[in-house]
Amino acid sequence: MSTYSIGIDLGGTNLRIAAYGADWTRFEAITLPTRVLDGPGAVLDDMCGAVKQLIAVYGGREKLVGVGVGSPGPLELPSGRLLEPPNLPGFEGLELKTELESRLRLPVFVECDANAAALAECHAGAGKSSGYQSLCMLTLGTGVGSGIILNGHVWHGFNGMGGEAGHVPVYHDGLPCGCGTRGCLEQYASATAIARAGQHVVLAKQNGNGSVTARSLAEAALAGDPDAKQVYKGVGEALGIGLASLVSTLNMPLYVIGGGVVAAWDLFAPAMFAELERGSYVYRLSKPADPFVLEAGRTNVVAAELGSDSGLLGAAMLPFFHSLNS
Ligand SMILES: [Zn+2]
Repeated sequence: MSTYSIGIDLGGTNLRIAAYGADWTRFEAITLPTRVLDGPGAVLDDMCGAVKQLIAVYGGREKLVGVGVGSPGPLELPSGRLLEPPNLPGFEGLELKTELESRLRLPVFVECDANAAALAECHAGAGKSSGYQSLCMLTLGTGVGSGIILNGHVWHGFNGMGGEAGHVPVYHDGLPCGCGTRGCLEQYASATAIARAGQHVVLAKQNGNGSVTARSLAEAALAGDPDAKQVYKGVGEALGIGLASLVSTLNMPLYVIGGGVVAAWDLFAPAMFAELERGSYVYRLSKPADPFVLEAGRTNVVAAELGSDSGLLGAAMLPFFHSLNS
């Protein structure tokens, strides 16, 4: 009898729920708006409704391994208690695991969304294709998330907050960050930060018309706009500084850059590699002959392979890995 699991990707805008088989093939996905303003109860109801809809099609307890949730951090684990999620105001203190288990009467496993994405890249993306089971992933989206995978398993730290590299300062006394620190990587390499930086340079030319996004700025840069190129060079420099700390500390064989911003890889990667080389002697001693070409036995930094589904797939992987460990 083939088994399956259900993954839930809880985002600030969208709620995605999908059924995956044990070989990570996706059976079906449901996308709903996240009803943040209606409060945690409404969002939990939407999650459970979609899970029950999938169970009605693919089978219940005898086939379903469990439910996995990828949630915005920071989280306390294993309770899956939300601490202060910036994109989910009013959800502080919500105990996702307990609430969902009591409603669904199924095993539920909760993971920070960036950790879930890293787990998926390890087992079904860049880690799988390069043959590495240990990696560190940076997810450049609305914020900068990160996840550390050691020998195929998420490194949580002692209470679930390990791998928050997006909030490691890269510029002393830099831009203020929502976390209360200054100069965090997130303030230079997230889509939000890129749009903000682009607002200054592009709107000046457009007489204040239109809004700038990370994507529209990338299009301007690819069309040759020098100011837009400069913004992405800044993204690469900040990433290189952040990566230098990670590479020198962790000595992982693989670092994966994911999230929507990675579509602009060609625009930021040259500055990223230059800064990484300047800032980490571990990297200098272990870099590949060409940083853009993966080389076994060296420190490789690559673009993610799974795209925006990695968090959802990673969430669905959680029940499988838990059942293997138990
Ligand atoms: Zn921060």
